[in-house]
Formats: sequence, structure tokens, C-alpha cells
Amino acid sequence: MRIDVFTIFPELINQATSISVIGRGRQAGVLDLKIHDIRESTTDTHRTVDDAPFGGGAGMVMKPEPVFAAVEATNPPRPLIYLTPAGRQFNQKMAQDLATTDGFSLLCGRYEGIDERIREHLIDDEVSVGDVVLAGGEVPALLVLEAVGRLIEGVLGNEDSTEDESFSDGLLEYPQYTRPAEFRDWQVPEILRSGNHEQVKKWRKAQAIRTTLNHRPDLIKSRGGITLEEAALLEEFGEQNPPTQL
Ligand code: SAM
Repeated sequence: MRIDVFTIFPELINQATSISVIGRGRQAGVLDLKIHDIRESTTDTHRTVDDAPFGGGAGMVMKPEPVFAAVEATNPPRPLIYLTPAGRQFNQKMAQDLATTDGFSLLCGRYEGIDERIREHLIDDEVSVGDVVLAGGEVPALLVLEAVGRLIEGVLGNEDSTEDESFSDGLLEYPQYTRPAEFRDWQVPEILRSGNHEQVKKWRKAQAIRTTLNHRPDLIKSRGGITLEEAALLEEFGEQNPPTQL
């Protein structure tokens, strides 16, 4: 997969994607990440990428010429996605959809954002990483890169490791434990040490439902509540009168 990133801080993207899972994906050639410095597409001696907003007001705005020039010189994979608080909120489903494509591109804003003509005539989509305002699109771009990159075949060592994760079937993940079995008098649940794989699987599913009900009832609601089978599973593991509707 090829992913192109347009930024005025290429080093920030390069460093963060050179280590760990994404770094391995890049090294293995599974993830072809091309990072473009928008400043290199300026034509003035000061390499200016921003200017004051028409109509006045605080801050600066990213100029259209270098952004258009950088993108048009590259012909990057589409869609070209602008990271912005005004975009659709990024989630696991979007990460999964992007991971099935051959590639896409990310545009990182800075200052007060980008000239509206870039939005209207260059980008294809807008994505937000949450209702929060960051100083630039680089951290959001890294979030998207990591979420998508780890889903690409060959990037994670163990191909199964994304299967049971949070959001994979509309539920959060079940609690995980490792050695030691006893730590400061706190025991790992007996069932996980029983060796009974069928019971472990059922316990994990019950815990995933319980965790999601406690932390994100909205997720349960949007998957249409819990089934009678799931309610029975909760009862089997100690839940009194589990809800089947929210
Ligand atoms: N003036 C803009 C506003 O009020 O929406 C905020 C600009 S912000 C300081 C600078 C850049 O950071 C934006 O152009 C965008 O690329 C990026 N950014 C900030 N918050 C973001 C978020 N929640 N999701 C995605 N990108 C974000």
C-alpha cells in the first residue's frame, strides 16, 4: 500500500513512522510511505507557506499555491484526505476501509488551517480525530497511519492479532492478563488458567459485552442491543437480569 503525506513538518512524520510496527512495515516494503515537504514546492526565497487571512482576524492561513504544486507534482494516490476538526470522525471502520485500498493521501494543515480553495478543488475527503483542536494535522495523520498501517497484511507479526480487538464486532475488548497469576494478592481469573478453551472463549465474550455495557453503552445501542444468546452468556458468568434492550 502507498500512503502519501503532505506536511510542512516531514521529519515529524518520518521519525514517528520509522519505529515500531509502522517502521517495520515500511522497512519490509509492505507500506510505501511517501512524505512530501510542502515548503519544497514554494517559489520565493523565504519558502512561504502561509499568509494573513483576507478579511482580517487572528493567525495565518496556508496558501494554495504550494499545496496545489506539491500535490500536482506528485499525482498521489486518492482519496486525498484533509485532516481537520470539521471532518467526519475517524474510527475503526474507516481504518478498515482504508486498509483494503491500494493507497490514499493525507494533507496536514497548520496555522488557522488551509485556504478554502484547497478544500473545494483539491481534496477528496475530510477527517477529524475528535472534537479537539490540535496545532497541526501531523499528529492526526500519524493516528490514521498507525490505525490503517497495522491492519495491512504483513505489518503485524501475528495475523490474528487484530481479530478480537475492540470494535471488531461492535464490542470493546475483554480484559487481558499475563504472568504472574498472583500479584499483590490479586488473582488472574481461574477460568483463564483452566485450559478449557471453549469456556475461555465464552468468558471473554461475556466480558467484552460487560465492558462495553459499562464503558460504551452507545456501541451496544448502535449494534441493536444484545441478543438473547448474549444475555444468557452474561447470566452464565454471574450477571443478574442482563439488559437485552438499551
Ligand atoms: N482554525 C481551525 C478550526 O478552528 O477548526 C483549527 C486549525 S488547527 C490550529 C491547525 C490544523 O491542525 C488544522 O488545519 C488541521 O489540519 C489540524 N487539526 C487540528 N485539530 C484536528 C482534529 N481534531 N482532527 C484533525 N486535524 C486537526
